Amino acid sequence: MTVFIPKNVYLTIVAACVRFANKKIPKDVWKEVSGIFTGKIIENENKKDLYISAAYPIMHDTFNLNDSIDEYDPRTVIDGFEYSDEDHESFALIDEEAFSKGEFTVGWWHSHPGFKVMLSGFGDRKTTISYQAYNPLAIALVFNPDRLNRQIELPQIAGGPIKQLKSDPGFKIFRMEDPNDRYSNFFEIEYKIEGFENSEQMIRMAQKLAIDITNFFSGENIFEIYEIFITNRINELNSNLQGIDEYLGTLIRKGESSRVYEVLESQTRDIRKFVAETFIKIENIKQFMDYLEYKERDIIIPKIKEILSKWDETIEHLNEKLTEIAKKY
Ligand SMILES: [Zn+2]
Repeated sequence: MTVFIPKNVYLTIVAACVRFANKKIPKDVWKEVSGIFTGKIIENENKKDLYISAAYPIMHDTFNLNDSIDEYDPRTVIDGFEYSDEDHESFALIDEEAFSKGEFTVGWWHSHPGFKVMLSGFGDRKTTISYQAYNPLAIALVFNPDRLNRQIELPQIAGGPIKQLKSDPGFKIFRMEDPNDRYSNFFEIEYKIEGFENSEQMIRMAQKLAIDITNFFSGENIFEIYEIFITNRINELNSNLQGIDEYLGTLIRKGESSRVYEVLESQTRDIRKFVAETFIKIENIKQFMDYLEYKERDIIIPKIKEILSKWDETIEHLNEKLTEIAKKY
């Protein structure tokens, strides 16, 4: 059996996992992220393969190593993840949506931020078994951002040898040998990631996305980042416009009015470039919305749209402002 993974599915996992385990977050509060896959079984000659159509981020671990022992809930560690009612609601909605397309939930994925990619403890095995019981071809994917970024496999035990990798996407896919026995072994499943020119290009894109996510989609308070970004961009644009106005005023006073046209033209070009750069950043931000946890979408997307609309409003009046300045001189 081979698992087929389209580009956007792979990038969703990279983004959702790097969001809670990156250079902007202290390592001891990195969080595990988990989600599910929807897709379908495809028959290739005598072989049954699994085609994944979507990856949905569901939750990030709320447990962190700094929590005091009183707050420490042993279930979190033994079972890995504790899903809330909201998460169960997400599962039902995603399943329903998939069903309407003739697809279904085909497995789960989660991250091991900074540690070896495998099915660890009973939690991971139990979860995988529960998917295999429901769907015999179900899979478990485990991703480690460090594995992608540094192209290394970390040892199972601290101090063990570090293995150097090449063009590795940062994950492995597993299944349990006996879906009725959580003490049974797990084994690796073959996969193909589709939509990239070659594996080098794939790794470059995934590593680049990890950097963008670190800078623009890190942690829980992502709209704070966007609020600051948009406010700064608007302020910078306004101060640029003011700067042009003042500069042209100075030229006139110095009797260099012949230079007005040339200066106005080059300054306008700079402003257009600034606007275009901001536009690209905003498009990225919009794309990142696909990487939100399912339950966050209804709350966060409208908030972000509102923040971004402030920029749109500013740009709407840009031509007016430039014409006003041009008329003045
Ligand atoms: Zn795990």
